[in-house]
Amino acid sequence: MPDEEKKPVHFIKSIILEDIANNKNDARVHTRFPPEPNGYLHIGHAKSICLNFGLAQEFNGKCNLRFDDTNPSKEDQEYVDSIIEDVKWLGFDWEDRLFFASDYFQQFYEYAIQLIKAGLAYVDSLNADEIRQHRGTLTEPGKESPYRNRSVEENLDLFERMKNGEFEEGAHLLRAKIDMASPNINMRDPAMYRIVKASHHRTGNKWCIYPMYDFAHGYEDSIEGITHSICTLEFEDHRPLYDWFIEKVGAYHPQQIEFARLNLTYTVMSKRKLKRLVEEKFVCGWDDPRMPTIAGLRRRGYTPESIRNFCEMIGVGKSESTIDIAMLEHCLREDLNKRALRVMAVLRPLKVTITNYPEGQVEMMEAVNNPEDESAGTRQIPFSRVIYIEQDDFMENPPKNFFRLSPGSEIRLKHGYYITCTSAVKDSDGNVVELLCTYDPETRGGWSEDGRKVKGTSHWVSAQHAIDAEVRLYDHLFTTPTPDVAPEGKDFTALLNPDSLEVLTGCKVEPVLADLPVGAYLQFLRQGYFTKDRDSVAGKLVFNRTVSLKDTWAKVQNKG
Ligand code: ATP
Ligand code: MG
Repeated sequence: MPDEEKKPVHFIKSIILEDIANNKNDARVHTRFPPEPNGYLHIGHAKSICLNFGLAQEFNGKCNLRFDDTNPSKEDQEYVDSIIEDVKWLGFDWEDRLFFASDYFQQFYEYAIQLIKAGLAYVDSLNADEIRQHRGTLTEPGKESPYRNRSVEENLDLFERMKNGEFEEGAHLLRAKIDMASPNINMRDPAMYRIVKASHHRTGNKWCIYPMYDFAHGYEDSIEGITHSICTLEFEDHRPLYDWFIEKVGAYHPQQIEFARLNLTYTVMSKRKLKRLVEEKFVCGWDDPRMPTIAGLRRRGYTPESIRNFCEMIGVGKSESTIDIAMLEHCLREDLNKRALRVMAVLRPLKVTITNYPEGQVEMMEAVNNPEDESAGTRQIPFSRVIYIEQDDFMENPPKNFFRLSPGSEIRLKHGYYITCTSAVKDSDGNVVELLCTYDPETRGGWSEDGRKVKGTSHWVSAQHAIDAEVRLYDHLFTTPTPDVAPEGKDFTALLNPDSLEVLTGCKVEPVLADLPVGAYLQFLRQGYFTKDRDSVAGKLVFNRTVSLKDTWAKVQNKG
């Protein structure tokens, strides 16, 4: 693909290029995306997905989708299903390579036996507290467990009985016998297996022991023939362990490569925190449009293309940083600008009666669907005597530079006519409840032959044709750009933005919106990008504002 040639060569690509040049692994490229099904995927995972699947695509290789389902107490089929849906939606295909780490439990078990037999693993019977005390610190070496020198026979017997469920959780632990004095704490006899008496979403009650991540992960990669095992930086210190487990059993050895995870301003990305937001009902679910989950972004109106472009733009590096969320929104606007259907919706309606327009007459006005895309065509919008405009498009006593409607002033109705306000009708409290206007029949389509200037252009909908709608406007979920830094003694939920959701009811939208599918990409003229929400029912549509029109990120870039 000619497009691919323009992509920058980041450090992981350089490694792959070199491996191909050296014919390492017969020049194969085989990556994987290995989520644990203990929550929904978020925008950080999207970075990893785009990287792993993207590299496979670029180098004619393969990428597996593998569920790292080794911890039964936190995992669930709902998460498996959502992850499959989200990776697909992002536009990636694992073909027939959908794998589960739990399918390898027997092989892990056999590797553990092999390590015990080689004198490289032992059953420890210290309790959790004691193990912690023996571990040492960054500056002090650890202490060896008194159980460290059990015989191979005793270890095999105890491990077998652990597996058979003879002991309670926490009674024993299988540990690798490496080095309690290692400067790398991960190498101080790390746990391989613990007793967990929970039912697994795939293996049921077959196993009473479950493998630890560091022990299992390399074997998962090895079994699948992965060439480049890409993970985030926090695993850098675990790499010696990844290598140790594989080398000691003599299995095929993939290469672990670490990159910096994505952090975003105004966003928490830890699954534990996102789960709390859902469970404690701070949001309405994993797909709440304020959530940074893929499901939330999709419901908010993000396109897969915009997320992929964003992941390309932020690049892949080795040092931790935080990306401005305005950059994600910039990528979104760029993409929506190309594809969004332009429609008119009045969010806070003010009734306008055009007194010289014939009663009962309806004219169909032609509107361009997308000025950025001629192939999107045009549509017909009904115009009639009573219409709605936006309340703040009128001011009774306007300041000097108010370019909208006021008594005596003339404006253009987009795709409609020029209208002039003759008077404002008020209720008993003095609120303006209706405008009386006249129109100029010579300005059909919103253009005047004589070229006279009007103060501004308003969007509108015909009252008798409009459909009622609820519109949900969103702001950042947190009040601070760094919600992972909670103030002393406070929980991160103290930083939630109480105004992150504003619900407008009684909105009036163009009739065409009734027939569009949920998830349609829209621009409400002058109001931003929107999408139709799944809460829509016949007669009452619901829309989410995806993002406003103002691109703060592009602005900052242009200044710099
Ligand atoms: P946890 O392990 O705490 O449950 P996790 O976010 O690491 O959470 P995993 O399911 O293990 O969740 O993640 C799957 C893959 O996505 C891993 O390879 C991980 O490195 C990667 N990943 C997770 N978060 C990010 C992020 N913010 N940026 C880039 N990659 C990420
Ligand atoms: Mg993880």
